[in-house]
Amino acid sequence: MTHRITLIPGDGIGPEIADAMRRVVAAAGADIEWDVQDAGEHVIADEGTPLPARVLDSIRENRVAIKGPITTPVGYGFRSINVELRKQLDLYVNLRPALSIPGTGARYDDVDIVLFRENTEDLYAGIEFDKDSDGAAQLRALVAATGAGTIRDDAGISIKPISEYGTRRIMRAAMDYAIANNRRKVTIVHKANIMKHTDGLYLRVAREVAAEYAERAPHIEVEDFIVDATCMRLVIDPTTFDVLVCPNLFGDIVSDLCAGLVGGLGLAPGANIGDTAALFEPVHGSAPAMAGKDRANPTALILTAELMLRHIEQHTAADRLRTAVTNVIARGEALTYDLHRTRFGTTDGAVGTQAFADAIVAELT
Ligand code: NAD
Repeated sequence: MTHRITLIPGDGIGPEIADAMRRVVAAAGADIEWDVQDAGEHVIADEGTPLPARVLDSIRENRVAIKGPITTPVGYGFRSINVELRKQLDLYVNLRPALSIPGTGARYDDVDIVLFRENTEDLYAGIEFDKDSDGAAQLRALVAATGAGTIRDDAGISIKPISEYGTRRIMRAAMDYAIANNRRKVTIVHKANIMKHTDGLYLRVAREVAAEYAERAPHIEVEDFIVDATCMRLVIDPTTFDVLVCPNLFGDIVSDLCAGLVGGLGLAPGANIGDTAALFEPVHGSAPAMAGKDRANPTALILTAELMLRHIEQHTAADRLRTAVTNVIARGEALTYDLHRTRFGTTDGAVGTQAFADAIVAELT
């Protein structure tokens, strides 16, 4: 069945890696009709906003979208288009797998971690007050009046809300995923020893959800770990982890750490999933300094497309795509600059974005 998918190429390196991704997805035999929607910094001049309504309309209609990175513009009503898209579509799950690919030259070759990051709450909820604002003054007065503590007059303030509702649904998503994908363990990542009313609530509710699943999935071990200890253990031995479930900010940081364990941002795919729509995007940003130079690694977006193909149940194409990417990287004859440098210690002999994609397409045809 042909799937109509919204494609947002994005800013910076976005259009080049999106071209590479489209060619690989077609060669893998996926049955897709692209609904291309431009968004980002480069549409502001013509449309007055980086995120025109037509883009959201298209995602709402198609229910599945894939996007390249978008540069965060300064001063356009919302802080980040990426955060705004997740908010508007209530895409509460941010799924970030880190899976070793042989031949990347990464520090580890046996990482297989899937990170679930809550996408709508925590410090990323965007409730912030400039140090000189009336809101900050009112909050300072309120905090002082409650006797909870004092906030200096020259402090900006960000609010960290974590709800039972938000925690319950991200933990359920992680448990459901663990069951459906034969995973062995779910680790709840937190800092509940210090932030008792936010991370403490998160830990308590996540454990309650785990208890609901105990009968149905007794084979899945559930543990919890403080975020700092999690980072240390990830570096010492990443194989001790399987599925991680994190509040928003820790998830952002820990997922980059996991990307580093498997070879860097050029290899890290991601997905934002809600109950009515899913938006697939790599972890990395628009890498403006590399834009237009045919130097970016398209692997992260290509593996993001693999996640998308699995979501729409085109598993054969997804399997073919994964095998072709793995083979090309393992062979090491056509590697992008970042991969070549990590594996061979030099960029001499590296190939461009499109030549790398050509090698994957050749593997598929
Ligand atoms: P970045 O991810 O663009 O770059 C970080 C580093 O990784 C740079 O050295 C870059 O060259 C390298 N890199 C990133 N992607 C790569 C690839 N595919 N191949 C090879 N190297 C790659 O992060 P940044 O510089 O902090 O952000 C640049 C812009 O992107 C900012 O405006 C930021 O807000 C935006 N951003 C967007 C998203 C998104 O669209 N989801 C995510 C992160 C950042």
